[in-house]
Amino acid sequence: MPTFVYMTSCDGCGHCVDICPSDIMHIDTTYRRAYNIEPNFCWECYSCVKACPQNAIDVRGYAEFAPMGHSVRVLREPEKGTVSWKVKFRDGREKDFVSPIRTTDWGTIPSPADLPVPDADALNNQELAHEPDALNIEGGLPALTRDQLKQGVV
Ligand code: SF4
Ligand code: SF4
Repeated sequence: MPTFVYMTSCDGCGHCVDICPSDIMHIDTTYRRAYNIEPNFCWECYSCVKACPQNAIDVRGYAEFAPMGHSVRVLREPEKGTVSWKVKFRDGREKDFVSPIRTTDWGTIPSPADLPVPDADALNNQELAHEPDALNIEGGLPALTRDQLKQGVV
């Protein structure tokens, strides 16, 4: 269900642009409001919907299972620690769901520029940059030893 922006509610803050993994939320240079430049490339991850402080982003269901007249609204309330969903069906029924926010607190993940530069030996290491610390795993990542591999594999 790709997203679209109610441009009258959007204030152009750009949070949706920053968070979109598909890089399809852009700010219109004339109106300074966000819009989805390519709904077909939407991952339907809802990250932008939950990130929008103005609740200005909505989702459009595919016609085959979400006919005209329905709506799905999402409200993220960090002060309550909840994400609330309101689903309205075309026949007027409504369903409400409330889930806890389970993601890492915003702004608490350091950017790569804040972390030490890996040394040259890191090129020969199978761990990705800043692993295992970035995964909160103490004592190194679990790894197979040669004797655990199938016979014949070298
Ligand atoms: Fe981007 Fe996900 Fe929003 Fe689609 S739902 S526009 S992929 S952040
Ligand atoms: Fe507009 Fe919401 Fe995107 Fe901010 S996060 S630019 S208010 S749509």
